[in-house]
Amino acid sequence: MRFSRAFIPTLKETPADAQVVSHVYLVRGGYLRQLAAGIYNLLPLGWRVIKKIEDIVRDEMNRAGAEEVLMPASVPAELWQESGRWQVYGPELLRWKDRKGAEFCTGPTHEEVIVDMVRRDTSSYRDLPLNLYQIQSKFRDEKRPRAGLMRGREFIMKDAYSFDRDEAGALKAYDAMYAAYGRIFKRCGLDFRAVEADTGAIGGSRSHEFQVLAESGEDAIVSCDTCDYAANVEQAEIMKPAEPGIQGAGELTAVATPTQKTIDDVSKFLGVAPSQLIKTLVYMADGSAVAAIIRGDRELNEIAFKKAVGATQLYLARDEEVVAATGVAPGFVGPVGLNIPVYADLELEGATGAVTGANRAGHHNTGVDLARDAKVTKFASIRLAGGGDKCPRCPGGHFRPFKGIEVGHVFFLGTKYSVPMKCNFLDEDRQTKPMVMGCYGIGITRIAAAAIEQNHDANGICWPLAIAPFEVEVISLQPGDAAVKAAADALYAELTAAGVEVLYDDRDERPGAKFKDADLIGVPLRIAIGARSLKEGKLEFKRRTDKDATLIAADGAAAYVAGLVAAEKATFRS
Ligand code: ATP
Ligand code: MG
Repeated sequence: MRFSRAFIPTLKETPADAQVVSHVYLVRGGYLRQLAAGIYNLLPLGWRVIKKIEDIVRDEMNRAGAEEVLMPASVPAELWQESGRWQVYGPELLRWKDRKGAEFCTGPTHEEVIVDMVRRDTSSYRDLPLNLYQIQSKFRDEKRPRAGLMRGREFIMKDAYSFDRDEAGALKAYDAMYAAYGRIFKRCGLDFRAVEADTGAIGGSRSHEFQVLAESGEDAIVSCDTCDYAANVEQAEIMKPAEPGIQGAGELTAVATPTQKTIDDVSKFLGVAPSQLIKTLVYMADGSAVAAIIRGDRELNEIAFKKAVGATQLYLARDEEVVAATGVAPGFVGPVGLNIPVYADLELEGATGAVTGANRAGHHNTGVDLARDAKVTKFASIRLAGGGDKCPRCPGGHFRPFKGIEVGHVFFLGTKYSVPMKCNFLDEDRQTKPMVMGCYGIGITRIAAAAIEQNHDANGICWPLAIAPFEVEVISLQPGDAAVKAAADALYAELTAAGVEVLYDDRDERPGAKFKDADLIGVPLRIAIGARSLKEGKLEFKRRTDKDATLIAADGAAAYVAGLVAAEKATFRS
């Protein structure tokens, strides 16, 4: 592709609405333009990257025995009513009516559609197993679309669904997808972890997220420093502590803490570590107030807390709700003498010498012995896992914390959809049985963003070759110089003929501007042709990640670089 003819609108300025690196570089590099919040145009460069990612995903899905289909984005409401999700899926679901008043949604995920498709034409065990996938645009009316392709409202997903006769078959399908996902993300050049995850709104019992490790990630994960156990902090198993997490002495004493409400303030004011404090959080669970208590230096795991309470709806109580339930403002609430159910983290069992709110404005209790002084409704594991926690799977391992970007998710669904939607088959024993399912998603557009989060420097993107928009950029430094132009044209033609994808910067621009754009766009290999080195029969070669260029012989340069590209590509599909 000749740069002079291409639609690559690079920008010098950082767009005002872009905070994360991938968003900034995608916009500045001429890959992406916003159409509406969370809705984007992919310009030629952006679409080239997405197609590369799709090709890898397709290749590995086909290799794993899945078949590609394409389902519509417009989904009749009846199917979602049949599965029961029409009623429970929140405002992320875009619902609409056609001219006749029939209700539809724009699919945020396609379990219902595929189950309907399969049940219509599959009736015998002989037709199973099946694994069908599509690569298609999804719509989710996300509350906070952010960071460009990272969290869009309309985005491209690969979603696959497996159908089996029994659980053993379904678990085999799950494992095959798990393995395929590992290959996909490796081929995309990503540093990732497969982590045990919560099954969320889709439900089911076995679930792994594939997380790309990056500081800008929204997901907190922990990974063992010794074995390969990794999990989302909400899902990570926490070992039952051998001894109480807070130990100390002293009588129950109320002390004045006039304006100290936060753990930090109280801890500084009283000169005790946050780990000596008990944090009390008031929630509204299906309309009534409940308290969660955890150690001061911990975070509450809302998912685990909700399960422990057995609530369907749970939210952090507003200030006036806290006052109504406890008689005191948030910041001074504590378990001693509290008249609402108290759920305590396991670590607090047997806690002594603790500091907590005194249920009296401007006061905290010290010397709290939880068993002696308070009534706990239930002890349960309700805190988030964190760095330093003991690994539940191996003897001496400890958790290390990471931030991750979820690029893929595999679920074992069981019969969650096949039972309500009657997706049945006749088994060899003449019994009618529901099919056992799994579902497997990959955020195609999110991969592009995640790859940039991991592969960039201060000047721009450093694409892994496998998903780069072009493999080589040829820069003509003096397009007005006949010899340079001839050499650059020839190199471009030769590389292209050798099957290499080349971006040829033939523009009438200063070398500095071209190098800047090249760094921003991030094509992995670069050859610059300038009058001076050309006279000596040399070209300037540089990998995007190299600091300096090296001179290579102009003679045979195309074959040399084509060989480098071919060698690197050969490692992709091992
Ligand atoms: P998240 O927790 O990030 O909201 P999710 O759990 O809702 O994701 P899934 O339903 O598992 O997502 O969807 C499969 C994949 O689709 C995810 O692993 C992610 O890579 C991608 N994805 C989900 N939501 C978005 C979005 N708003 N923008 C871009 N990609 C997304
Ligand atoms: Mg998910």
